Amino acid sequence: MKHIKSSTIQQTEKILEKVKKITIITHFNPDGDAIGSSLALYHYLADKNFDVSVIIPSRAPDFLHWLPGTNSINVFEDTPDSSKSLINDAELIFFLDFNVLNRTQGMEKYLKSLSTKKILIDHHPEPENFADVIISSTGVSSTSELLYEFLTSLKEGSDINRDIAECLYTGIMTDTGSFSYNSSSPETYYIVSKLIEQGIDKDKIYWQVYDNYSIDRMKLLGYCLNQKLKVFPDYAAAYISITKDELKKYNYKSGDSEGFVNYPLSIKGIVFSVIFIEHEEYIKISFRSKGEFYANHFAMKHFNGGGHRNAAGGYSEESLNETLKKFEKEIQLYKEDLLKSRV
Ligand code: 5GP
Ligand code: MN
Repeated sequence: MKHIKSSTIQQTEKILEKVKKITIITHFNPDGDAIGSSLALYHYLADKNFDVSVIIPSRAPDFLHWLPGTNSINVFEDTPDSSKSLINDAELIFFLDFNVLNRTQGMEKYLKSLSTKKILIDHHPEPENFADVIISSTGVSSTSELLYEFLTSLKEGSDINRDIAECLYTGIMTDTGSFSYNSSSPETYYIVSKLIEQGIDKDKIYWQVYDNYSIDRMKLLGYCLNQKLKVFPDYAAAYISITKDELKKYNYKSGDSEGFVNYPLSIKGIVFSVIFIEHEEYIKISFRSKGEFYANHFAMKHFNGGGHRNAAGGYSEESLNETLKKFEKEIQLYKEDLLKSRV
């Protein structure tokens, strides 16, 4: 393992020696890696008798609720006052799985001016300089993988128990689409083998995450693929868009559209797939690509977002129709890059 300098580990150890109250914070709309890494760190620190809490800006999807430690998570949107107290009382804050502070949305304004010591552990490109210690590498599959390296590098020793292993495995599995992308490094599988040694049931974790959807979600997926998919073969691109009314019709719950954006990528010749979801105040957009096409650059340039090369996100404050029109116009400039990325 090679992503964290030993001087950084020493610096962190020194900080940990001086604190008792620790808060762990991850990003808005948390995914498997955000929740998996946060809960893994939570278990690790709690086992070491730190007074530790986890705060997430918005709720986690149901398919992650089985993770050990879920009941101790504070959701900022639901309990802002007690969450603010936890932030203010903390002597150390860990930020996990994001690179720009505005990914914490409503929490950003309380975090910005804090003088509390902060440690970032993340795998997104170009992290903003908002923490005292930055542990960041894009060479890992996930924050959970980097956290494994971090925890096993601390001089306390590698106390990765089964709960921690389940959380970390979930993070690695979800951030690699079950080992279908961002997962070509032997190191990832070495870590997975160590997690399996802890007695985790990897098949059960897969079922709990991917085979645990509602009937409504399945029907919404069918509807989207049948009625809402627009393919641009000349640009190797495709998108799905869903309106507020459609979400309502299918009793949409947060997390229901998870994974939809991947489906168009399984069409032969498609290397760029996008989903637009109309919420009350904005359009949430997810981008996925294959190969060399930089979905994060596209998201950053046109849709206020960012992320990884092959998985990025953003948003639009224009109407859904305007947003789609804009997308259809912008991809014309990328025709060459898109076609080059075909496998
Ligand atoms: P998703 O499409 O699953 O919401 O996000 C995919 C990836 O894109 C996430 O891992 C995250 O890195 C990034 N991402 C999603 N939304 C945003 C956003 O609004 N801003 C930035 N900078 N990155 C985002
Ligand atoms: Mn991640």
